[in-house]
Amino acid sequence: MIRFVGGLLVGLSLIGQPAVADDSTAEDALDAIVSERLEYYARSFPTIEFAHLRGGEDAMLSTLWLRQLLGRGATNLVYEHPAELSSDLMDVSLRRIQYMLSTDSASSSLFRVGEGAAARHSELCVITLSPQTVAANDRVATNYMLPVDSAALPQMPTDHLLDHRMHLEFVVDHEVFHCLDAHQNGPIPMSDREHWGEFMAHVNEHGADAFAVAMHVQRHGDHTDYSRNLMRVRALTLLGDDSSHFTPESIHHMLDRIEDSKILSEMTPNALITLAHWVRNEVVGDYDDYLRFRSAAQSAVLQTAHLAETHTAAIQTAPFGPESSGLADSLVSLTSSCYTAMFDTPLDATPMPSSECDAYLQ
Ligand SMILES: [Zn+2]
Repeated sequence: MIRFVGGLLVGLSLIGQPAVADDSTAEDALDAIVSERLEYYARSFPTIEFAHLRGGEDAMLSTLWLRQLLGRGATNLVYEHPAELSSDLMDVSLRRIQYMLSTDSASSSLFRVGEGAAARHSELCVITLSPQTVAANDRVATNYMLPVDSAALPQMPTDHLLDHRMHLEFVVDHEVFHCLDAHQNGPIPMSDREHWGEFMAHVNEHGADAFAVAMHVQRHGDHTDYSRNLMRVRALTLLGDDSSHFTPESIHHMLDRIEDSKILSEMTPNALITLAHWVRNEVVGDYDDYLRFRSAAQSAVLQTAHLAETHTAAIQTAPFGPESSGLADSLVSLTSSCYTAMFDTPLDATPMPSSECDAYLQ
């Protein structure tokens, strides 16, 4: 849906601008969830403008709108970089946003706006998100999060599916965290270490999931079916050779931490960002810990690889050094156990009862 707001042709809403009232379709109901979350963050962070761009047929207009919002000489606030590379980094950032829009993928980026910017604040958090792609219904929401083609997976019981409305909130909270993290803690630092980019991506995914699950508990209480199912889904990412989103431990730690805290309902987003940082640092550790985790994850992917055969050649040729003893076994066993819990059927390669996954989720 394209809207004229203040004479500017836009590809959804500049948060804080009045939306066209029409709740009659499911699509509008999903848009309303996104707007509600972003308006909440806009009130909490008055120096940041939040813009939601959607893909599909609106992608081209979204890109044009984004250029107007940014103005001339805008800078990327997510990645530390030398001043002379600023405009190259902006080019890459804009191309990445275009790619995310063209693939209907969820992403976020934070910029300092430049001269003549249409944005009303000094920083712009850009979220690309197609609510229909991510969360049209419970099955779509769940399949979108699973690491392999859903056709290769058994049907899961309906009460194991992710509630799509809660999930859309979670995705917005997760993406907004990446902006707020850069706003509050500064850009991702530069390093010439070989796997630094992957390490920082891994750390940031843990932080974003920890923050978003805390937001979920603040709104819906703990021990929801959603948080249980989410943790199971995140425990399955190694089946698709995706170790950066293997975050069940951070979700679990955050749920533990906030269960102890009687003041969660009063915690501001700032306080939850700080807590998410603490959790992610606790769980991921330092760069060397990360390399040990990657080695173990690589080994776990190979052991559970019957669904990820296309990845095995690349995995075998990408060593990360020695792994922590026993870590690969525990990753395999959690993956396999959560697979049984999710699908009510064991993983062929490494069957495990669901009890370990269920115990982890308590
Ligand atoms: Zn993320």
